[in-house]
Amino acid sequence: MKIGVPAESRPGETRVAATPETVKKLAAQHEVLVQAGAGLHASVPDDAYAAAGARIVTAREAFQAALVLKVRAPDADERSLMQPGALLVGMLNPFDTENLAAMADQRLTAFALEAAPRITRAQSMDVLSSQANIAGYKAVMMAANAYQRFMPMLMTAAGTVKAARVLIMGVGVAGLQAIATAKRLGAVIEASDVRPPVKEQVESLGAKFIDVPFITDEEKEIAAGAGGYARPMPADWMRRQAELVHERARLADIVITTALIPGRKAPVLISEDTVKAMKPGSIIVDMAIEQGGNCPLTELGKTVVKHGVTLIGEPNLPALVAADASALYARNVLDFLKLIVDKNGKLAIDRDDEIVKAVMVCADGEVLRK
Ligand code: NAD
Repeated sequence: MKIGVPAESRPGETRVAATPETVKKLAAQHEVLVQAGAGLHASVPDDAYAAAGARIVTAREAFQAALVLKVRAPDADERSLMQPGALLVGMLNPFDTENLAAMADQRLTAFALEAAPRITRAQSMDVLSSQANIAGYKAVMMAANAYQRFMPMLMTAAGTVKAARVLIMGVGVAGLQAIATAKRLGAVIEASDVRPPVKEQVESLGAKFIDVPFITDEEKEIAAGAGGYARPMPADWMRRQAELVHERARLADIVITTALIPGRKAPVLISEDTVKAMKPGSIIVDMAIEQGGNCPLTELGKTVVKHGVTLIGEPNLPALVAADASALYARNVLDFLKLIVDKNGKLAIDRDDEIVKAVMVCADGEVLRK
């Protein structure tokens, strides 16, 4: 089978869907066509792909393969290069109904890896986790870079410097990595989440959990989430959380927000009043910015200073760690391919498989995800 690896064209997208490591494995059974320059921004030269067994080709040839591996969904021009019936694997955004319809119209069989269920068998192909982990790390790095003070406590001959206080809002994969990274830098950390099991995870990393009590059974039930994901909390709980967060944010030097609810606008957790109450020189990294942001003052793709607080709205943090983000993403893709390509290199799509069923967003001219 011909497998195409085009370069990503979306502005700021530096990642690539295959690396020499994964190409080498695929090339044992398939013809792998890598677009010239596809790995350039992830520090992978064409020579390295060629040495792994790929043929370096034009964008057209890469998109015309029977199976196309991408990071992001192709745009309309790229899609038009693809053959009807071709397979497409990537982070295709299963909530983008317009794009799903366009892919179905072109009779593509498309797999949106973000939609994989959070079950043990799917862990090795869980692109949300591999990329959120990197994003959580980079968010702390960006905050530390913008912050005009030290992160760790220092005792020097010229006096003592206090450790930075870091507040993490939303402790999924990204939040846990943000805690671990800030901890390594010596910060004092507090964190908040809606899901009760998170408390233990936060404490095991040496951070303090901000407990927002559940008053009603309904609150408790919603907070348990669904399939590992959070659900929107009732307004009353959100108000109580906001009051507590306001107090903690006033004392914080760095706030990192990661709270997301799949398929919805991100919840507002840091209001303008809270930003106003923060110390001058504080930093907010709003990792939910692509979903509207956890702070209404953050601006997409920009770093702005408002009320003396620096707000960082970088939408694609994994792309700033392109080499490792690509390496992990490419392994996720390779593991997924084992589900739809058999040992002899033949396509064998089991539509009843729980993972295949979840990620297959269109086939036979139809959108499968409702
Ligand atoms: P996510 O990116 O969807 O959301 C980030 C965090 O924001 C979540 O922890 C969510 O609870 C939190 N959040 C939402 N609304 C909030 C609010 N109002 N206030 C505070 N926090 C709020 O989440 P994620 O990183 O994708 O991970 C979700 C969970 O799934 C984690 O517990 C993770 O460990 C788990 N997970 C399990 C598997 C598996 O079992 N295979 C794989 C990956 C992740």
